[in-house]
Amino acid sequence: MLILDCPYCGVTAEETEFHGGGEAHLKRFGPGSSDEDFEGYLFHRENPRGVHFERWRHVNGCGKWFHVARDTATLEVFGSYSAQVTEPPQEIRDAITAKRPGWRWREFA
Ligand SMILES: [Zn+2]
Repeated sequence: MLILDCPYCGVTAEETEFHGGGEAHLKRFGPGSSDEDFEGYLFHRENPRGVHFERWRHVNGCGKWFHVARDTATLEVFGSYSAQVTEPPQEIRDAITAKRPGWRWREFA
């Protein structure tokens, strides 16, 4: 069972309290972008086995969207944070680096 913390109202609950919204930190492309960039934005996702950044919504609580950094293989949660940022905050990066020293960072939008 995945246990998440809502960074807005402070509730810690099982994943059934929340709703997943897919990958976080996508770089958006719209009208005027190349077909290749737009296709990548619409269809291509990381889907890693390991560290992943996701969007979640607290549907049975405050209703707000937030981001979660977690390991998809072990369900270990490194932390949750505001959805109003374009990349993970430093404390989340430090938590991941401490627990997964060999993990490589990708480019964020
Ligand atoms: Zn909440």
